[in-house]
Amino acid sequence: MGLLALGTALDWPEAKKQAHLVRSWGIKQLLEIWNKAKGKERDAMLWGDEVEYLVVTYSEQDPKVLLSLRQADILTALANDTSLLAKGGCVPELQHIHRNGEPLPVFHPEFGRFMLEATPGKPWGIEFKELLNVEPNMKLRRCIAKDHMLPNEHPITLTTFPRLGSPGVFTEPAYPISGPKLRSQFVPDEIANPHIRFPTLAANIRSRRGRKVQVNVPVFRDENTPWPWKDPTVNYDLHQWPEDDDVRNGAAPDNFIHMDAMAFGMGSCCLQITFQAKNITEGRQMYDQLSPLGPVLLALTAATPIYKGFLADTDVRWNQISKAVDDRTPEELGEKNDRWRIPKSRYASNSTYISTDARLRPEYFDPDLVIDEDIKQQLLDGGMDDRLATHFAHLFIRDPIVIFNEDLQELDLSKTDHFENIQSTNWQHMRFKPPPADNSIGWRVEFRPMEIQITDFENAALSVFMVLITRVILSYNLNFYIPILRVDENMETAHARDAVLERKFWFRKNLFPTSRPSRSSAGGSGSSTPRSAHASRPATPIGPVEDEYRLMTVNEIINGTAYACPEGANNDSTSDSGEDFPGLIPLVESYLDSVNVDVVTRCELGTYLDLIRKRASGELWTAAKWIREFVKSHPKYQGDSVVSEEIEKDLVGAVIKVGEREQQGKGFRGLECEGVKDLGKLMGKFRA
Ligand code: ADP
Ligand code: MG
Ligand code: MG
Ligand code: MG
Ligand code: MG
Ligand code: MG
Repeated sequence: MGLLALGTALDWPEAKKQAHLVRSWGIKQLLEIWNKAKGKERDAMLWGDEVEYLVVTYSEQDPKVLLSLRQADILTALANDTSLLAKGGCVPELQHIHRNGEPLPVFHPEFGRFMLEATPGKPWGIEFKELLNVEPNMKLRRCIAKDHMLPNEHPITLTTFPRLGSPGVFTEPAYPISGPKLRSQFVPDEIANPHIRFPTLAANIRSRRGRKVQVNVPVFRDENTPWPWKDPTVNYDLHQWPEDDDVRNGAAPDNFIHMDAMAFGMGSCCLQITFQAKNITEGRQMYDQLSPLGPVLLALTAATPIYKGFLADTDVRWNQISKAVDDRTPEELGEKNDRWRIPKSRYASNSTYISTDARLRPEYFDPDLVIDEDIKQQLLDGGMDDRLATHFAHLFIRDPIVIFNEDLQELDLSKTDHFENIQSTNWQHMRFKPPPADNSIGWRVEFRPMEIQITDFENAALSVFMVLITRVILSYNLNFYIPILRVDENMETAHARDAVLERKFWFRKNLFPTSRPSRSSAGGSGSSTPRSAHASRPATPIGPVEDEYRLMTVNEIINGTAYACPEGANNDSTSDSGEDFPGLIPLVESYLDSVNVDVVTRCELGTYLDLIRKRASGELWTAAKWIREFVKSHPKYQGDSVVSEEIEKDLVGAVIKVGEREQQGKGFRGLECEGVKDLGKLMGKFRA
């Protein structure tokens, strides 16, 4: 996120009155950028990752692990340290890179006051060799972050803190619950970054909804889990805020872990990748082609099996964030009959395609996409094409949530603040980022669904894989289109426990841009139709859209149907339907074979591809599975879905140990069985 200006944030009743103005200025700013940048050409192929951390306090002698709320102090310490490396705590090989001229990493605030974000100092280029700098750079970021923390503070890359919101103290320092902004019965207001933007965001979402957010996640039913299960941490007898009625009005159904604040979603960590395209056309193509990959990568990176001290029946964070920022009113939710029903939260998988690709069939669109027709008309009048206008007219159905009074004096077309206000609070799994107002950089596409991984090796592997797959898509002009509603379905599927091995995803059967014969040329004398007659027309797609895709396992999608699973893998890639599919990894491999990569680089890239391959086949475990196994095999686990403070401490301790070993160069190459046993031993050591 960018720098946060200070100002007077309007509370919801006031902000609501200005929503229309902000939207209309936002559209004018968008048209300004569009007109300035639509013809921008030959931007470099750059990309960058974002890694988010939780900051925890941990030491062997303390009985508990806590979330440290010192984000501001840590960021200040980082900002005031001009060399960043001066303390010398970081391993020499890592420092070396930066002596060679690579700029130092950049640290950013995040929603949770216990979070940090770090990006490389400048975006990565497309040189294959440069891909090898990603992992050391991520390790260096973690090391520098740790270097600017207290000795008992640690940056860890778990997606969520296991007992966030559990009864008892879980933050350092501790604060009373509950506060006027969040009105949560589980977390204090101080859990959020204190910059006025964040508490206002949370308060205005709650206020717009007319009640607290309801983040309900199904509990995992283990042998000794009472059933039906009632969340034992819910208090039905609070009478401090009107919102305390929510649970008495059914907000906390049986068999669900109940959470009631934005922090339960936006307090989760993820791994995001931003690509710069050479021009807007390529950016729109990347946006569309990466879209159907979102749910597959979500399942492959699953890392979120615990909420509020209980094992959940889902493995990923996505829907919880979606619910945690769902500002829809009862009317918009369809609870009262109204013309303006909005089917999704403003944090959700994306709802439309935007490319000018001739292969984009009308059948792939959602026929019921909700858009603001007036906004669309303004964009069309301003010269934007229908598809892109539709995309933005969909984003602009949302109200701006945080409005600063100072920004409402006059419209400044040399800025993009009002546009960004709406754009940056539409948290979809892809984001199409126009150039900034000064046009200094190009059109970018952000890939947002991935869960953060415990080790930097894994985070680097997934980042590099996404870069390579993007190169493959562009080089081979691959076609991943399926109906957007199938992508939505896949996103739900990705939530299932061990979806990576147990579920199937809708996926396109033929990725190659075969020049299909048109209907008329397909048979008999039709073949004599002169080519030139159709020169400017796309090849007519034949057959119903439903025949273009089928259900596949992640193993089929990633490794292909020809992949022979080695022993130890528990996922079968042979297709039920008998239809061959090449697999994304073999496509990446053949792409790498076709370009000039030196042996060493190729070999290193191979270790990253190996991780992806083995995750998909089940030879390696997702973090979600590893965490579940850790909890299950913990001597104090009662088989009742409860993740106690003691288990939490050992789990976080094990994660810190993995990180320390990785920093020392003894990195894990995936969280396999061996790793779990190993960590079991480490755990034993901690528990004295
Ligand atoms: P946000 O939080 O809004 O997504 P950040 O600034 O935190 O934005 O992260 C943006 C990412 O994009 C970083 O990894 C950064 O290195 C990368 N990036 C910056 N400029 C470019 C560019 N011109 N092309 C591609 N990636 C870029
Ligand atoms: Mg960021
Ligand atoms: Mg951000
Ligand atoms: Mg972030
Ligand atoms: Mg986040
Ligand atoms: Mg981002």
